[in-house]
Amino acid sequence: MKIARLSDLADAKACPRLVVKVGSSLLVGKQGVRREWLQGLVTEIAAARARGQDVIVVSSGAIALGAATLKLDKGGRGSLADAQAAAAVGQIALSGLWAELLGAHGLTAAQLLLTLEDLEDRRRYLNATATLTRLMDAGAVPVINENDSVATQEIRFGDNDRLAARVAQAARADAVLLLSDVDGLFDRNPAEAGAQMLHEVRGVTAEIHAMATGGSSSGMGSGGMTSKLQAAEIAERAGIALVIASGLHDAPVARACQQGIGTLFLPRRKDAARKAWLGGRLRLKGVLTVDAGAARALGRGGSLLAAGIVGVEGEFQRGDAVAIQSDAGATLAHGLAEYDAAECARLMGTQSGEQAELLGYAPRSAVVHRDQLVVL
Ligand code: GLU
Repeated sequence: MKIARLSDLADAKACPRLVVKVGSSLLVGKQGVRREWLQGLVTEIAAARARGQDVIVVSSGAIALGAATLKLDKGGRGSLADAQAAAAVGQIALSGLWAELLGAHGLTAAQLLLTLEDLEDRRRYLNATATLTRLMDAGAVPVINENDSVATQEIRFGDNDRLAARVAQAARADAVLLLSDVDGLFDRNPAEAGAQMLHEVRGVTAEIHAMATGGSSSGMGSGGMTSKLQAAEIAERAGIALVIASGLHDAPVARACQQGIGTLFLPRRKDAARKAWLGGRLRLKGVLTVDAGAARALGRGGSLLAAGIVGVEGEFQRGDAVAIQSDAGATLAHGLAEYDAAECARLMGTQSGEQAELLGYAPRSAVVHRDQLVVL
């Protein structure tokens, strides 16, 4: 069963597995942790569990919480070093809090701290999947955050919206509920007169992206609408529904599901798991630019052949993920390269008959094979 409306998120049949992401500004207020609000949310999580849904929590707030304790300015986001230190202090308190509040409902919390590479490397991704699956089979509620204290700029998500979408993919969840300080996606800056909230989005198009107004409104998290839309893109491609809803009210899950206040991004298609993982990859090692003929062949489900490649960028090895783009610069596909960057540059524009001599060994059937490729 596929999710078609907001109320399906509270239906164990339509949504057996739900990821709930909680933004920093909901967890931490001016007076510190918003404990009562969180108790209310945990009550809703317990209710979801009682109706037979698996729930995974992606919780922000470590940096905000740690910054308050260490008295760091800019909410601990003044520098990477501050954020790392703040997260180390805040994460202990944060996981303790979740464990305590879930425990009050007889639920066991399980902490997982992930970095970007844990979900971008296929082997580590499958490992995360196995751990999550085992935890849920054992009845625990995973509480996940980025491992901010060790994640440097190059290896970090930096926002928990995309982390939540990737976690949902890894856990084979049906839906992601992003709770933050906005009611949903508006067609323009919600502060402007006449701004309308969209109730349903079918496909995150360029027009939808144009509606996002940038950074986090609270200044506490790092997400903002841009990262929420990126999360929605990852989710829709993986066949997962995503909802943006406000957590500023009591019982936010019920407000979104029963009153229907939020924006639902409908799942677009269900790629095979490996292809969805590849399509959602955030870091790619290189770019192959292709001509119009190759672009058409990709659209028809073909492999990428050397003859259609007109440009090679980046330092990638055989097996690394690369973007395939048109000569106008539009990303057409993600795929795993059969050759390293230097070989791709050597083979670019050649027919298979010429390749053995250029390589010194028998060429592979394609530069990116169609089984290792996902058209976006
Ligand atoms: N991982 C960060 C934290 O726990 C939050 C990232 C975000 O703002 O989305 O503070």
